[in-house]
Amino acid sequence: MPVVADILIPLALDTAYSYAVPAGLTLAEGDIVQVPLGPRETIGVVWGLDERASGGNLRPVTGRVEAPPLSDSLRKLVDWLARYTLAPKGSALAMALRLPDETARNEAPRIGVRPSGKPPTRQTAARGKVMAVAADGAVRGKSALAKEAGVSVSVVDGLIDDGALETVALMPEPVALPPDPDHPRVPLSDAQAEAAHALIASAPSPTETVTGETILLEGVTGSGKTEVYFEAVAECVRQGRQALVLMPEIALTAQFLDRFAGRFGVRPATWHSGIGGRRRERLRAGVAAGEVSVVVGARSALFLPFKTLGLIVVDEEHETAYKQEDGVHYHARDMAVVRGKIEGCPVVLASATPSIESRVNAQSGRYRHVVLPGRFGGRPLPDIAAIDMRLDKPERGRFLSPPMVNAVKSTLAAGDQALLFLNRRGYAPLTLCRACGHRYQCRNCSTWLVEHRFRRALVCHQCGYAERKPEACTECGAFDHLTPCGPGVERIAEEVTELFPEQRIVVLSSDFPGGAERLRQELETVAAGDCDIVIGTQLVAKGHNFPHLTLVGVLDADIGLTSGDPRAAERTFQLLQQVTGRAGRGERPGRALVQTYQPEHPVIAALLSGDADRFYEEEIWAREAAGLPPFGRLAALIVSGEEREKAEAHGQALARVADPPAGVSVLGPAEAPLALVRGRWRFRLLVKTERGIDVQSYLRDWLARGPKPRGNLKVAIDVDPQSF
Ligand code: ADP
Ligand code: ZN
Repeated sequence: MPVVADILIPLALDTAYSYAVPAGLTLAEGDIVQVPLGPRETIGVVWGLDERASGGNLRPVTGRVEAPPLSDSLRKLVDWLARYTLAPKGSALAMALRLPDETARNEAPRIGVRPSGKPPTRQTAARGKVMAVAADGAVRGKSALAKEAGVSVSVVDGLIDDGALETVALMPEPVALPPDPDHPRVPLSDAQAEAAHALIASAPSPTETVTGETILLEGVTGSGKTEVYFEAVAECVRQGRQALVLMPEIALTAQFLDRFAGRFGVRPATWHSGIGGRRRERLRAGVAAGEVSVVVGARSALFLPFKTLGLIVVDEEHETAYKQEDGVHYHARDMAVVRGKIEGCPVVLASATPSIESRVNAQSGRYRHVVLPGRFGGRPLPDIAAIDMRLDKPERGRFLSPPMVNAVKSTLAAGDQALLFLNRRGYAPLTLCRACGHRYQCRNCSTWLVEHRFRRALVCHQCGYAERKPEACTECGAFDHLTPCGPGVERIAEEVTELFPEQRIVVLSSDFPGGAERLRQELETVAAGDCDIVIGTQLVAKGHNFPHLTLVGVLDADIGLTSGDPRAAERTFQLLQQVTGRAGRGERPGRALVQTYQPEHPVIAALLSGDADRFYEEEIWAREAAGLPPFGRLAALIVSGEEREKAEAHGQALARVADPPAGVSVLGPAEAPLALVRGRWRFRLLVKTERGIDVQSYLRDWLARGPKPRGNLKVAIDVDPQSF
């Protein structure tokens, strides 16, 4: 009987395709194969094998590809991911496959050169310079040598041809050195030891299989959670298993990696979107072979082919960066829990400000709740006080209120550092012509253009569109009437420089000139105390430890609260807790001042009282009353297209056949919160269901009934949308 193989191809296809397995080729599920697809050859994974008659009309599998097969657990994860997110199964597979991209395959092997001992047959000044540099006998890369000698690479090539320089293959640097779980470390406090024990106790022993348990590790910033989960990582490594620590990309800092090195003797292997070609492949291979025992990575590390995964940690589990908002819409925290179940390994979710979902799961007993009380070493939490902006008004055209200015002064006088936090990049969020009222808007998006004074441009934060800031209004031609409205961090920097001209000021924001390297240096400067005032966006709220910082000033606590999004309260509370928690992490106690127009708002009140439980109780109660997640389920359909009318009409056509059963309601179509993005109009249909309802089945049936998007129309599905 001929064998038929169902091959899943990593393209946006919903199902596996059947191929005949030619005689002489033996395949197993998970094998990576080459198959014909239309006029070309492509790569796919054996998803199923069947001893049935192929009918003779199936095209044959071309052959097996020399690559490690996709493991059972990864195939299960792909199936789960596709079923849950309703993404095409092939798209889900593409995430787990991550085949070497072109740059990886075309990358030349690394070759170094050194003098061979033979003199050049022909001497020139340029050749002389190269030979002088190379005279020390060290092996250098060709371009490095050319650069050092101040000549072009062709001179070096000439010397190689001539035989005066010889080439040697450079040893690849090891992809990761093994972490030492028993590296000398600081002793844990009693509370930490107890928490660590609770995490380790849930790890399966090498002989026993335990279904994955999820643990919520909660404790204020500075409570010592990192040290605690490091213990669980160490225990996992001792047992010969692999550990994965997921972090929001932004928190993957040198500071964290050094801290890891302090605990384990070496820096961990890291995985994130910036890691390139060859290194990426070597790391994947090392993970698959079980040689790399700890990976610290951003969300996509979840799809690495671990051989014996024994632990997953999701640090800062509440972070929105864990949700992928394009392609396959998945939440890495939720998928980590799924992978833990598939692998039978524990999953630790760590946060100072857990998501409402995780809190509810902990309260209901679905997750184990491990709480670290207070800060490590009994350091007090910062005192948090509000500045009521209705009473303490800043001077005209200024944004720092008098009490804030005084607090900065006294902090600096004590020799400490102050952080001023404003979650707005650029100089001003809106530019207005005072003569005609014209406001500068993006031509592709329904957003205002943000002035970036450093770049002298008006920039769209949604699509990146930028134009030069005009001298005169482009609408009415009036000179000197274009007015920046509201502050961004650049504008705060201007004000602070005028107020404190003698002080060393650092602005930290993601569009800081000089890129990641410069940013890293600036963060180090701040951590070392070589700076007096830090002005920053949410970039500074997370993952950094600034021991000299004793004052955090929040310049506009109300920013996030005005949006209509029901998660606004949660988000704002988390962000404000995080940023105020930066104060007083060193020797001296810290405090935080919060500028607000609504000190009585429940989020601000909970923040001021330091009573996080009160916030969670109220917020959970409100969600339950409204049937919002996690007490009900939500999904969104986003219909987008280049013409507004067509996108809206398609949304309406879908709504007409929505036919929701009991327990399901469908809202919309309504303009999405950002109605125009990159030239595409977006309309949203929101599906709200009671908790027990299988929202995926409903969506699948509905979409099958509805009209198919044509032309440039697209329908994206977002199960568990993060903003709604
Ligand atoms: P969290 O992850 O909860 O924010 P950390 O693990 O970063 O807390 O700990 C906060 C600070 O306390 C860090 O500077 C850390 O080095 C220090 N710390 C934590 N645990 C210990 C310990 N057992 N001994 C000494 N210092 C510790
Ligand atoms: Zn735009």
